[in-house]
Amino acid sequence: MTSSPHLSLRLLPALAALSTPALSVFVVLAASGEIKPLSAIGGAIVTVSLTAVLLRPYGADLAELAAYARDLSSGQDVPPPELRTNVATGVAIALSQLRRAWRSRNEETEKLVGFHETLFDSLPSPLFLLNAHRRVVRANLAARAIFGRSLQGRELTKVLRNPELLEAADRVLSGEPGCDVEFAVTLPVEREFRALVEPLPGPGVDGAQAVLSLHDITALKRMEQMRADFVANASHELRTPLAALLGFIETLQGPAHDDAEARDRFLGIMYDQASRMSRLVADLLNLSRIELNEHTAPSGKADVAGILRRVAEGLELHARKRSMQITLSVADNLPPAKGQDDELAQIFQNLMDNALKYGREGTAIDITAKIAETLPPSMAEHGTRALSVCVRDHGEGIAREHLPRLTERFFRVDTARSRRLGGTGLGLAIVKHVVNRHRGAMTVESILGDGSTFTVFLPLAEG
Ligand code: ADP
Repeated sequence: MTSSPHLSLRLLPALAALSTPALSVFVVLAASGEIKPLSAIGGAIVTVSLTAVLLRPYGADLAELAAYARDLSSGQDVPPPELRTNVATGVAIALSQLRRAWRSRNEETEKLVGFHETLFDSLPSPLFLLNAHRRVVRANLAARAIFGRSLQGRELTKVLRNPELLEAADRVLSGEPGCDVEFAVTLPVEREFRALVEPLPGPGVDGAQAVLSLHDITALKRMEQMRADFVANASHELRTPLAALLGFIETLQGPAHDDAEARDRFLGIMYDQASRMSRLVADLLNLSRIELNEHTAPSGKADVAGILRRVAEGLELHARKRSMQITLSVADNLPPAKGQDDELAQIFQNLMDNALKYGREGTAIDITAKIAETLPPSMAEHGTRALSVCVRDHGEGIAREHLPRLTERFFRVDTARSRRLGGTGLGLAIVKHVVNRHRGAMTVESILGDGSTFTVFLPLAEG
């Protein structure tokens, strides 16, 4: 703490003010001849000196107070000085209380700022605060994760180049109400966003005048597209046999009316087409029912060995027609899987049915069921114990590029072949959804010209 050297000069007005009444008395007394001029001068000197002596502690205290106030304002946390006069001591105490109150207010403000920053960063959607010049004054964690770390101070054009979005930001910054724009970014991967630009109530301390929030609508758009594709595919699949049926009915009503041989042949085809429609409708209903329940895992215990035997028996006639043989190799005492018999039967029914359809005539279909030694990554990380069921055929196999799409609805490697063989294109989609509901996994390995192996992993019903 330092005292000001100019303080005595600063006290001169106070000294003058306090001495003036006494000095006036001396002047009047000297002028009226009541006292001698020399005595008046002596009296005046004594009066001024005494007043100066009285004022001195106040002056020193004021200097200390000024230094104390300076220390506080420069952020130093110093105790109040020890002062000589009560008035100055009172002021020093008041100053120290003021400083304490200010500090606690400051701490509260800092906490509030920290809270708002955490809140800003924890929002999952990318957020940008923009100033009047369309520069980013702040960007949250989600924005930095997508658009890079050094966003602060950058012009919005350098971050997002979409012209409609930039126009919308300009409009809002020039005082128009908030608006939204949809746009796509292609890097690093294609994503679609809905951007909302809203004006802020007044410019913030950082100059922020508008907030830009981005909402990732990629999944939503894809789902919309998938739904549209699905409806188009399903209608197309139904329309084809329906058109054939109508065609044959017209022919039977017209030119082939009296042709018994043609009628028998056409009726056979019509039966096949109607059966195809019926299978398709059944598969569609099945798929939507499974999808509806997919989020809840089944709780029952399923005897997989028994189910495999029943499904294989049911397909025996079909296998015999193609001179094929289904061989079952089930580990002894195979524990039950967590699941529902009829749903698991659908998995094996579809896989064996495909093996029969796409396997070469006269070949075998090998089915192996055992406790799985290694699990696909999606199951391995949960420490699950599971059993595996392998369905291996000796057919033409599936080219590598088709493997990722096999479980898509209506995906077929060869559409004509699948239709000829009575396929709906939904079998593996049903398998995938049932496996998902059972919290299992499926892998496909295939060698062109040699055959395919579909392996389903199902968690064991423990306990
Ligand atoms: P589909 O009713 O057409 O058989 P799926 O969904 O069961 O429909 O199968 C989709 C496509 O996957 C089939 O059309 C076929 O091209 C291919 N596929 C399925 N299983 C096999 C298999 N075991 N061998 C060769 N291709 C297969």
